[in-house]
Amino acid sequence: MTGEVPEGLPPGAAAAIRDALAAERQQTLDRITAVRREFDGIVESSVGVATDDEHDPEGATIAFERAQLAALIDQARGHLAELDDALDRLRQGSYGRCERCGRPVAAERLVARPAARTCITCAAASSGRWPGWQRCR
Ligand SMILES: [Zn+2]
Repeated sequence: MTGEVPEGLPPGAAAAIRDALAAERQQTLDRITAVRREFDGIVESSVGVATDDEHDPEGATIAFERAQLAALIDQARGHLAELDDALDRLRQGSYGRCERCGRPVAAERLVARPAARTCITCAAASSGRWPGWQRCR
C-alpha cells in the first residue's frame, strides 16, 4: 500500500478524510432518500386531490413544494458527485492539492470540508470576500 498516501498528507489524516468522505456520502444518500420520500408523498396527496396545478391555489403550492424538493435532490446529487470526485482524487493521490494554485490544502480545511477542491486562499479569492494575497485566519 505504499505510494497510496498523498504527498503532504499524513497517513492518519488520509484515513480520517476517507472516513469523513464516506460518512458524508452516506448522510447525503440518506438525505436524498428522505427528500425523495417526501416528494413522493406530495405527488401522492396531489393525485388524491385531483386538482390541476394551473388554476387551483393548492395545486400551485404543491407544484412549488415539489420544485423546492427537486432542487434539494439536485443539490444533494451535486454534493454526492463532489464527494465521489474527492474519493477518486484520494485514490489517485491528487487529493489535498489546490486545484488553482497547486499548493497543499490545509488539513483543517480538508477535515471540515473533505470535498474541498481549493485551498482557503483560492476559495476566498474566488468568492470575492478577500483579496487572494491575504491570509485567512
Ligand atoms: Zn490555492
